[in-house]
Amino acid sequence: MKYEIKGKVVAITGASSGIGRAIALMLAGEGAKVVLGARRADHLEELVAGIIASGGEAAYIVTDVKRRDDLARLVKLARDRFGRLDVMINNAGMSQLSRIDELDIDGWEEMIDVNLKGVLYGIAAALPAFREQGAGHIINIISTSGIKIVPLQGVYAGTKNAVRTISEALRQESDGWLRVTGISPGVVQTEFVNNLKNERMKTAILEKMDTLGISPDAIASAVAYAIGQPANVDVGDIVIRPAAQD
Ligand code: NDP
Repeated sequence: MKYEIKGKVVAITGASSGIGRAIALMLAGEGAKVVLGARRADHLEELVAGIIASGGEAAYIVTDVKRRDDLARLVKLARDRFGRLDVMINNAGMSQLSRIDELDIDGWEEMIDVNLKGVLYGIAAALPAFREQGAGHIINIISTSGIKIVPLQGVYAGTKNAVRTISEALRQESDGWLRVTGISPGVVQTEFVNNLKNERMKTAILEKMDTLGISPDAIASAVAYAIGQPANVDVGDIVIRPAAQD
Protein backbone atom coordinates (compact mmCIF):
# COMPACT_ATOMS: atom_id res chain seq x y z
CA MET A 1 0.00 0.00 0.00
CA LYS A 2 1.28 3.46 -0.86
CA TYR A 3 0.99 6.03 1.92
CA GLU A 4 0.58 9.74 1.21
CA ILE A 5 3.12 10.96 3.73
CA LYS A 6 5.92 12.45 1.66
CA GLY A 7 6.17 16.23 2.02
CA LYS A 8 3.65 16.52 4.86
CA VAL A 9 4.65 18.81 7.72
CA VAL A 10 4.13 17.05 11.05
CA ALA A 11 4.59 18.52 14.54
CA ILE A 12 5.18 16.02 17.36
CA THR A 13 5.18 16.73 21.10
CA GLY A 14 7.19 14.52 23.43
CA ALA A 15 9.52 13.67 20.57
CA SER A 16 12.66 13.31 22.70
CA SER A 17 12.13 9.64 23.59
CA GLY A 18 9.97 6.55 23.27
CA ILE A 19 6.90 6.67 21.05
CA GLY A 20 7.37 10.29 19.94
CA ARG A 21 10.94 9.62 18.86
CA ALA A 22 9.91 6.47 16.97
CA ILE A 23 7.13 8.41 15.19
CA ALA A 24 9.60 11.16 14.22
CA LEU A 25 12.09 8.69 12.77
CA MET A 26 9.50 6.67 10.88
CA LEU A 27 7.70 9.67 9.37
CA ALA A 28 10.96 11.41 8.44
CA GLY A 29 12.04 8.15 6.78
CA GLU A 30 8.81 8.29 4.72
CA GLY A 31 9.62 11.83 3.57
CA ALA A 32 7.62 13.91 6.07
CA LYS A 33 9.08 17.17 7.40
CA VAL A 34 9.02 16.72 11.16
CA VAL A 35 8.94 19.52 13.72
CA LEU A 36 9.82 18.22 17.14
CA GLY A 37 9.02 19.48 20.63
CA ALA A 38 9.94 18.30 24.15
CA ARG A 39 11.83 19.71 27.14
CA ARG A 40 15.19 17.93 26.65
CA ALA A 41 16.99 20.02 24.04
CA ASP A 42 20.02 17.70 23.83
CA HIS A 43 17.83 14.72 22.86
CA LEU A 44 15.98 16.75 20.23
CA GLU A 45 19.17 18.20 18.79
CA GLU A 46 20.69 14.75 18.37
CA LEU A 47 17.50 13.37 16.80
CA VAL A 48 17.18 16.23 14.32
CA ALA A 49 20.88 15.95 13.38
CA GLY A 50 20.42 12.21 12.76
CA ILE A 51 17.36 12.75 10.56
CA ILE A 52 19.11 15.46 8.52
CA ALA A 53 22.25 13.31 8.17
CA SER A 54 20.05 10.55 6.70
CA GLY A 55 18.66 12.96 4.09
CA GLY A 56 15.47 13.89 5.94
CA GLU A 57 14.02 17.24 6.98
CA ALA A 58 13.51 18.16 10.63
CA ALA A 59 13.56 21.04 13.08
CA TYR A 60 13.05 21.31 16.83
CA ILE A 61 12.14 23.78 19.52
CA VAL A 62 12.17 23.24 23.28
CA THR A 63 8.52 22.76 24.19
CA ASP A 64 6.89 22.28 27.57
CA VAL A 65 3.27 21.33 26.85
CA LYS A 66 2.26 22.87 30.17
CA ARG A 67 2.88 26.26 28.54
CA ARG A 68 0.43 27.16 25.83
CA ASP A 69 2.86 29.66 24.28
CA ASP A 70 5.35 26.84 23.72
CA LEU A 71 2.78 24.98 21.61
CA ALA A 72 2.10 28.13 19.61
CA ARG A 73 5.86 28.44 19.00
CA LEU A 74 6.03 24.80 17.85
CA VAL A 75 3.34 25.45 15.25
CA LYS A 76 5.00 28.73 14.24
CA LEU A 77 8.29 26.91 13.68
CA ALA A 78 6.55 24.45 11.36
CA ARG A 79 5.01 27.27 9.34
CA ASP A 80 8.11 29.48 9.27
CA ARG A 81 10.46 26.64 8.32
CA PHE A 82 8.26 24.49 6.10
CA GLY A 83 5.41 26.82 5.10
CA ARG A 84 2.47 24.95 6.64
CA LEU A 85 1.34 22.39 9.22
CA ASP A 86 -0.44 19.26 8.06
CA VAL A 87 -0.49 17.12 11.20
CA MET A 88 -0.27 17.83 14.93
CA ILE A 89 0.62 14.81 17.05
CA ASN A 90 -0.14 15.31 20.75
CA ASN A 91 2.06 12.60 22.19
CA ALA A 92 3.72 14.09 25.30
CA GLY A 93 2.51 12.37 28.44
CA MET A 94 3.46 11.27 31.93
CA SER A 95 2.07 9.22 34.78
CA GLN A 96 2.21 9.08 38.55
CA LEU A 97 0.36 5.91 39.42
CA SER A 98 -1.08 5.57 42.92
CA ARG A 99 -4.24 4.74 44.83
CA ILE A 100 -6.60 7.67 44.87
CA ASP A 101 -6.72 7.62 48.70
CA GLU A 102 -2.95 8.23 48.76
CA LEU A 103 -3.91 11.77 47.72
CA ASP A 104 -0.93 12.44 45.46
CA ILE A 105 -2.47 15.76 44.50
CA ASP A 106 0.77 17.07 42.94
CA GLY A 107 0.87 13.96 40.76
CA TRP A 108 -2.79 14.46 39.75
CA GLU A 109 -2.08 18.04 38.76
CA GLU A 110 0.96 17.08 36.73
CA MET A 111 -1.01 14.44 34.80
CA ILE A 112 -3.90 16.83 34.16
CA ASP A 113 -1.52 19.60 33.07
CA VAL A 114 0.53 17.43 30.70
CA ASN A 115 -1.86 14.71 29.49
CA LEU A 116 -5.05 16.75 29.25
CA LYS A 117 -4.32 20.48 29.17
CA GLY A 118 -1.17 19.85 27.11
CA VAL A 119 -3.26 18.11 24.44
CA LEU A 120 -5.83 20.94 24.48
CA TYR A 121 -3.03 23.49 24.06
CA GLY A 122 -1.72 21.46 21.11
CA ILE A 123 -5.17 21.43 19.52
CA ALA A 124 -5.57 25.17 20.18
CA ALA A 125 -2.22 25.95 18.58
CA ALA A 126 -2.86 23.86 15.47
CA LEU A 127 -6.52 24.61 14.69
CA PRO A 128 -6.09 28.20 13.44
CA ALA A 129 -3.42 27.03 10.98
CA PHE A 130 -5.60 24.11 9.86
CA ARG A 131 -8.60 26.40 9.44
CA GLU A 132 -6.58 28.80 7.29
CA GLN A 133 -5.39 25.91 5.12
CA GLY A 134 -8.84 24.32 5.01
CA ALA A 135 -7.41 21.00 6.17
CA GLY A 136 -5.44 19.40 8.96
CA HIS A 137 -5.04 16.28 11.08
CA ILE A 138 -4.90 15.97 14.88
CA ILE A 139 -3.47 12.72 16.23
CA ASN A 140 -3.70 12.13 19.98
CA ILE A 141 -1.70 9.38 21.64
CA ILE A 142 -4.09 8.06 24.30
CA SER A 143 -3.78 4.69 26.12
CA THR A 144 -5.46 1.37 26.78
CA SER A 145 -5.67 2.70 30.35
CA GLY A 146 -9.22 3.91 30.42
CA ILE A 147 -10.42 1.21 28.03
CA LYS A 148 -9.75 -1.28 30.81
CA ILE A 149 -10.16 0.42 34.21
CA VAL A 150 -7.73 -0.88 36.84
CA PRO A 151 -6.66 0.27 40.33
CA LEU A 152 -3.76 2.75 40.68
CA GLN A 153 -4.37 4.26 37.25
CA GLY A 154 -7.54 6.20 38.09
CA VAL A 155 -6.36 9.74 37.45
CA TYR A 156 -3.98 8.77 34.63
CA ALA A 157 -6.78 6.86 32.87
CA GLY A 158 -9.12 9.77 33.60
CA THR A 159 -6.87 12.18 31.72
CA LYS A 160 -6.63 9.75 28.82
CA ASN A 161 -10.39 9.17 28.68
CA ALA A 162 -10.93 12.93 28.71
CA VAL A 163 -8.74 13.14 25.61
CA ARG A 164 -10.71 10.28 24.02
CA THR A 165 -13.95 12.19 24.59
CA ILE A 166 -12.57 15.51 23.34
CA SER A 167 -11.13 13.86 20.21
CA GLU A 168 -14.51 12.40 19.27
CA ALA A 169 -16.31 15.69 19.83
CA LEU A 170 -13.73 17.50 17.72
CA ARG A 171 -14.14 14.94 14.96
CA GLN A 172 -17.91 15.39 14.93
CA GLU A 173 -17.60 19.18 14.92
CA SER A 174 -15.12 19.29 12.06
CA ASP A 175 -17.61 18.85 9.20
CA GLY A 176 -15.05 16.90 7.24
CA TRP A 177 -12.28 19.46 6.85
CA LEU A 178 -10.33 18.16 9.85
CA ARG A 179 -9.18 14.60 10.48
CA VAL A 180 -8.95 13.40 14.09
CA THR A 181 -7.26 10.17 15.15
CA GLY A 182 -6.86 8.64 18.61
CA ILE A 183 -4.22 5.97 19.04
CA SER A 184 -4.30 3.90 22.23
CA PRO A 185 -1.13 1.96 22.97
CA GLY A 186 -0.94 -0.89 25.46
CA VAL A 187 2.39 -1.74 27.08
CA VAL A 188 5.22 -0.26 25.01
CA GLN A 189 8.95 -0.37 25.80
CA THR A 190 9.89 3.26 26.48
CA GLU A 191 11.21 5.49 29.27
CA PHE A 192 7.65 6.02 30.46
CA VAL A 193 7.98 4.69 34.01
CA ASN A 194 11.36 6.31 34.73
CA ASN A 195 9.68 9.24 36.51
CA LEU A 196 7.38 7.16 38.71
CA LYS A 197 7.74 8.15 42.37
CA ASN A 198 6.29 4.84 43.65
CA GLU A 199 9.32 2.49 43.48
CA ARG A 200 7.20 -0.66 43.91
CA MET A 201 4.99 0.30 40.95
CA LYS A 202 8.04 1.28 38.93
CA THR A 203 9.69 -2.13 39.40
CA ALA A 204 6.44 -3.96 38.61
CA ILE A 205 5.80 -2.00 35.41
CA LEU A 206 9.42 -2.19 34.28
CA GLU A 207 9.17 -5.98 34.61
CA LYS A 208 5.95 -5.95 32.56
CA MET A 209 7.56 -3.75 29.93
CA ASP A 210 10.53 -6.13 29.68
CA THR A 211 8.48 -9.28 29.35
CA LEU A 212 5.44 -8.01 27.48
CA GLY A 213 6.18 -4.58 25.99
CA ILE A 214 6.09 -4.05 22.24
CA SER A 215 8.34 -1.75 20.23
CA PRO A 216 7.35 1.93 19.88
CA ASP A 217 7.67 1.28 16.13
CA ALA A 218 4.31 -0.54 16.33
CA ILE A 219 2.69 2.74 17.38
CA ALA A 220 4.64 4.74 14.80
CA SER A 221 3.35 2.40 12.05
CA ALA A 222 -0.23 3.13 13.12
CA VAL A 223 0.46 6.87 12.99
CA ALA A 224 1.92 6.48 9.49
CA TYR A 225 -1.14 4.47 8.43
CA ALA A 226 -3.54 7.16 9.70
CA ILE A 227 -1.63 10.02 8.09
CA GLY A 228 -1.16 8.17 4.84
CA GLN A 229 -4.85 7.67 4.08
CA PRO A 230 -6.46 9.80 1.37
CA ALA A 231 -7.76 13.20 2.58
CA ASN A 232 -11.38 12.02 2.73
CA VAL A 233 -10.56 9.03 4.94
CA ASP A 234 -10.45 9.61 8.71
CA VAL A 235 -8.94 6.85 10.81
CA GLY A 236 -10.75 7.32 14.12
CA ASP A 237 -9.48 5.06 16.88
CA ILE A 238 -6.75 2.46 16.85
CA VAL A 239 -5.83 0.24 19.81
CA ILE A 240 -2.41 -1.41 19.65
CA ARG A 241 -1.35 -3.65 22.49
CA PRO A 242 0.88 -6.68 23.00
CA ALA A 243 -0.91 -9.81 21.83
CA ALA A 244 -0.47 -11.21 25.35
CA GLN A 245 -1.80 -8.13 27.22
CA ASP A 246 -4.89 -8.91 29.31
P1 NDP B 1 8.51 8.46 27.30
O1 NDP B 1 8.65 8.80 28.74
O2 NDP B 1 9.59 7.70 26.63
O3 NDP B 1 8.16 9.76 26.47
C1 NDP B 1 7.37 10.78 26.98
C2 NDP B 1 7.67 12.02 26.19
O4 NDP B 1 6.85 13.08 26.69
C3 NDP B 1 9.11 12.45 26.33
O5 NDP B 1 9.60 12.82 25.06
C4 NDP B 1 9.06 13.66 27.25
O6 NDP B 1 10.06 14.59 26.86
C5 NDP B 1 7.67 14.20 26.92
N1 NDP B 1 7.13 15.05 27.96
C6 NDP B 1 6.84 14.75 29.25
N2 NDP B 1 6.39 15.85 29.89
C7 NDP B 1 6.42 16.86 28.98
C8 NDP B 1 6.09 18.21 29.01
N3 NDP B 1 5.65 18.81 30.13
N4 NDP B 1 6.25 18.96 27.88
C9 NDP B 1 6.71 18.39 26.75
N5 NDP B 1 7.04 17.10 26.65
C10 NDP B 1 6.89 16.35 27.75
O7 NDP B 1 7.13 7.63 27.24
P2 NDP B 1 6.25 7.12 26.00
O8 NDP B 1 6.94 7.30 24.73
O9 NDP B 1 5.80 5.77 26.38
O10 NDP B 1 4.98 8.09 26.11
C11 NDP B 1 4.42 8.75 25.00
C12 NDP B 1 2.90 8.75 25.12
O11 NDP B 1 2.42 7.41 25.06
C13 NDP B 1 2.37 9.33 26.44
O12 NDP B 1 1.28 10.17 26.17
C14 NDP B 1 1.90 8.09 27.21
O13 NDP B 1 0.85 8.39 28.09
C15 NDP B 1 1.46 7.19 26.07
N6 NDP B 1 1.41 5.78 26.40
C16 NDP B 1 2.54 5.06 26.70
C17 NDP B 1 2.44 3.70 27.00
C18 NDP B 1 3.64 2.86 27.32
O14 NDP B 1 3.45 1.70 27.72
N7 NDP B 1 4.86 3.32 27.15
C19 NDP B 1 1.14 3.04 27.01
C20 NDP B 1 0.04 3.87 26.66
C21 NDP B 1 0.18 5.20 26.37
P3 NDP B 1 10.90 15.56 27.82
O15 NDP B 1 11.08 14.84 29.12
O16 NDP B 1 12.16 15.78 27.05
O17 NDP B 1 10.05 16.79 27.90
